[in-house]
Amino acid sequence: MTSTYPHVTLNNGVDMPALGLGVYQSKPEETTDAVVTALNAGYRHIDTAAAYFNEAEVGEGLRRADVDRADVFVETKLWISDYGYDEALHGFEKSIRKLGVDTIDLLLLHQPLPSQFDKTIAAYKALETLLADGRVRSIGVSNQSPEELDRLLAETSIVPAVNQIQLHPYYTQPEWRAVNDKHGIITQCWSPIAGAYTYNGNEKNPFTEPTLVELGQKYGKTPAQVMLRWHLDHGFSAIPKSVKPERIRENLDVFDFTLTADEVASIDALNTGVSGSIDPDSLTLESHGMPIPE
Ligand code: NAP
Repeated sequence: MTSTYPHVTLNNGVDMPALGLGVYQSKPEETTDAVVTALNAGYRHIDTAAAYFNEAEVGEGLRRADVDRADVFVETKLWISDYGYDEALHGFEKSIRKLGVDTIDLLLLHQPLPSQFDKTIAAYKALETLLADGRVRSIGVSNQSPEELDRLLAETSIVPAVNQIQLHPYYTQPEWRAVNDKHGIITQCWSPIAGAYTYNGNEKNPFTEPTLVELGQKYGKTPAQVMLRWHLDHGFSAIPKSVKPERIRENLDVFDFTLTADEVASIDALNTGVSGSIDPDSLTLESHGMPIPE
């Protein structure tokens, strides 16, 4: 049993608070308050992205909260329209300008770009330069399949610290996790409370799922809290999104209990093997390459 904020150590020794606030689909006008609420409630990690169009509001939240910037792990992602070496360096400059910070704690490539993977590789090499220059403290990827990771590892020098992928009780991603583990890459889970299922009208509802409801009753927790504890008990990083103060606080209140191995396995067994979202490999510059503003 633990009551302290769990951290994970990245493959370059950097310490990352395992639970963070996600801000995908947080409207710009809601984002600053969400970040302030989260940091003042005790969160020490925020996950944003250039393509969420709310980095400036995240930055405003960082400045307004009663917490030093140095005590917050700030993570953002480069979008595919900024792939290529010089383009990625410029994308980083856009992100730090909007966030109002000098360094990023973790910078990810948001997606692979399978149709032009050479641009993905070139962008990753820019991340390696930023790491060598001390502009970012760690680098990683998101939505990279085992095959894409193999190619990236073969053509670049630094093993990503993190691969951020869709992962929740309905989509537990055993193959991708195993490959991340093999390379010492931390698995970070997007849609950790199955948000992608909710957004996309899937019939499954984790908040009425009997296994999660019953475990919640046992521990005096909600199904969302049980799901987040499951992530932490697996050693993942998880970045639940909410703009509602009570849910932001609820999602952090998961450090005072742990699940047994059998309980973790009972949640693992909810896996449907079906993604709640579009295939990340289906994205192209033509379909999704919207420009990121200066
Ligand atoms: P999520 O965090 O699993 O779920 C968010 C949804 O659940 C929102 O609709 C939120 O609504 C609601 N919610 C939050 N806390 C709740 C609670 N305690 N009880 C009931 N409902 C609750 O899904 P997500 O936003 O898709 O993923 C989380 C983060 O992962 C994103 O914000 C983003 O940072 C990252 N992400 C990354 C990628 C990628 O491609 N790398 C893709 C998607 C997401 P309210 O806001 O109204 O509370």
